Amino acid sequence: MAVLPENRLNQPPEIESPCARTAPAPPRTAEVGVCPLCGADDSVVLYRMPDRLHGTPGEFTYRRCTSCRTVFQDPRVVPEDLGLCYPRTYFTHSRPSIPASSTAPGSHPLIVARDTLRRAIVASVRGEPTAGWTGLLGRVLARSRWLRERAFYDAVMDELLPRAIVSQRALDVGCGAGDLLRALQCVGWAVEGVEWDPAAADMAREVTGLCITQGDFRHLDLPLGVYGLVVLHHVYEHLDEPVAALSRIADLLAPGGHAVLVYPNPDSLGARLFRDCWFAWEAPRHLVLPPGLAVSEAALRLGSVRVQVSTITRSASEMYLRSAAYRSGVWGDHPIPRAGWVARLFGFAETAAASLGFRVGEETVVTLTKKAVEAGK
Ligand SMILES: [Zn+2]
Repeated sequence: MAVLPENRLNQPPEIESPCARTAPAPPRTAEVGVCPLCGADDSVVLYRMPDRLHGTPGEFTYRRCTSCRTVFQDPRVVPEDLGLCYPRTYFTHSRPSIPASSTAPGSHPLIVARDTLRRAIVASVRGEPTAGWTGLLGRVLARSRWLRERAFYDAVMDELLPRAIVSQRALDVGCGAGDLLRALQCVGWAVEGVEWDPAAADMAREVTGLCITQGDFRHLDLPLGVYGLVVLHHVYEHLDEPVAALSRIADLLAPGGHAVLVYPNPDSLGARLFRDCWFAWEAPRHLVLPPGLAVSEAALRLGSVRVQVSTITRSASEMYLRSAAYRSGVWGDHPIPRAGWVARLFGFAETAAASLGFRVGEETVVTLTKKAVEAGK
């Protein structure tokens, strides 16, 4: 993480009122000055907003780079005080439920046929040789994203499925309590995790029994050039040096391996509609929210990866409901109400726009593929 000079720290205000003596002080912040993605020094204030989710004291400013449109916190909470912005229970934990893949003896012929096709699709995705009509049908059906995900029981999104594997090793960066680790393991990866939070790392070890390394993946002694998959699922937006992170990710990948970054899309329909009340700004924990193309340009400058950018709309209705609650003054982490027709219509409209090629989905997905020419480096 960046080391910030002391004289640039914005100290919290003096507390004078006796009533305020026990109130927690806001985290210290420091000016950033330039866009963390492209380095341009021209940006405009986009929003000033409080922490509507966990109530961190203070108000936080987000600017938009006029060059690459990255939205970034500036002044930014200093690394030493970031811990004040995260509640003890920040990470989530639930057990993914993935049914067994084998067909029970004596099953109805339609069930047997369904499972045969499912296995054929799985084999096709994995690049395994398949013969006969089932193999052919599997290859045809595997062209559908929806069927690919269904064939793996919707355990993970399509980009995280183990295709024609160059390396079976997968690294989940910021694995939290291990939910995604277990899902990745279920679809066939040999998984390892890295987690900043010691408590979350302990829980991930306990729940999954897998190798979890505690610390910052940018500085840990991890093996380079060996991973077929590196995942940053809602992690990239928390990093203060997003370009250096891309370089580190590329170094970790095996030739032909993929890195998948999933993070909130600052150009989504929800962000445009709800403005500063959009749930996914999540001030002050989210430091950088770049458009996919800005990440793509930064990654291409590395020279060692190819890049694909898309947006997905799976959380559109939820994002609508949470953002609408913020706008009506209901703050905090409340159970999501059942989606009414307006939220469903919002989700439908966003999905329709995304399918027409508009990058307005609530989440950006950036996939980096390590070029094979890097082999032996
Ligand atoms: Zn920029």
